[in-house]
Amino acid sequence: MTAALSHHTDHGFRNPWPGFEKRGFPDLLRWLLFEHRKAPRDSGTGCPEMKGIPNDGAFVRANTTDFTVTWIGHATVLVQINGMNILVDPVWGNRVSPIPFLGPHRFAEPGIAIDNLPRIDCVLITHDHYDHLDTDTLIRLGAGPLYLVPLGIGRILAGLGITRYIELDWRDTRMFGGLAFTCTPAQHFSGRGLSDRNRTLWCGWLVRGSKESWYIAGDTGYFPGFCEIGDRYGPVDLACLPIGAYLPRWFMKPVHLSPSDAIAAFRDLRARLFMPIHFGTFRLAEDPPCLPIYELRNEIARSGIDAARFLLLKRGETRIISPAIR
Ligand code: ZN
Ligand code: ZN
Repeated sequence: MTAALSHHTDHGFRNPWPGFEKRGFPDLLRWLLFEHRKAPRDSGTGCPEMKGIPNDGAFVRANTTDFTVTWIGHATVLVQINGMNILVDPVWGNRVSPIPFLGPHRFAEPGIAIDNLPRIDCVLITHDHYDHLDTDTLIRLGAGPLYLVPLGIGRILAGLGITRYIELDWRDTRMFGGLAFTCTPAQHFSGRGLSDRNRTLWCGWLVRGSKESWYIAGDTGYFPGFCEIGDRYGPVDLACLPIGAYLPRWFMKPVHLSPSDAIAAFRDLRARLFMPIHFGTFRLAEDPPCLPIYELRNEIARSGIDAARFLLLKRGETRIISPAIR
């Protein structure tokens, strides 16, 4: 990678791709002051994915062999691969905000109670936003798992008493439990307060075993990195891609995929299976909780891609990724 395309700056990180259009504070004001109140207020309880199905965790606690994926809700995903239990962006909290009584609240309960999880071997974090990094949840998960995080997040973990972590830069790989974990580029941003914008890195994760592989994008806009990941590591078996928090489009496009963007990313990645995440749990933008999955269904029909390649899991649902559907 050339220096001109570096994502490192003197004060943190940036999106290095030439097509990236940065949105600033004036853009945020334009959205919140002039457009926010015009957006639909639908509570979005109408989609089956959000309603979910009960999961007491018994199957995933007993499973030591099958490659499975469970959608806990929003960006929180449990993956079992190679006998390892991996939790991504664990958030069991009721509000994703720096202020306990303000900010987006949870519409839908986590798909599995945190006490019903199997032993967690590894926690992957994609970035420091509150809907992906919930300190109360990390305290409950404790110091047992290995935490793999992008650069800069280790300081947050250390502040919680969690010391068993490894920080990775984009394209770095670490082996753990017979799996290769690669920190992959994403086009997004970071920050938990007013003065820490882009001080920590954002990323996706690619996990490869001897037979199986799986990718989760984190939060990202549509960007050339999908082709890079597909070319370098593809074809992966399963791609978990975010589809929500995409409206208003003029504001969100650089940093959040729309449902149609996610289909384009799926093609670039050359993944076999697509699982949508990042919807139906918190209202973070103008799209009501069920609009992203409604739009995704329309896009799937338009795409001409075999519908069997889309895993539209209900909240709490566990799916075995059998060789037949890989
Ligand atoms: Zn984010
Ligand atoms: Zn997010």
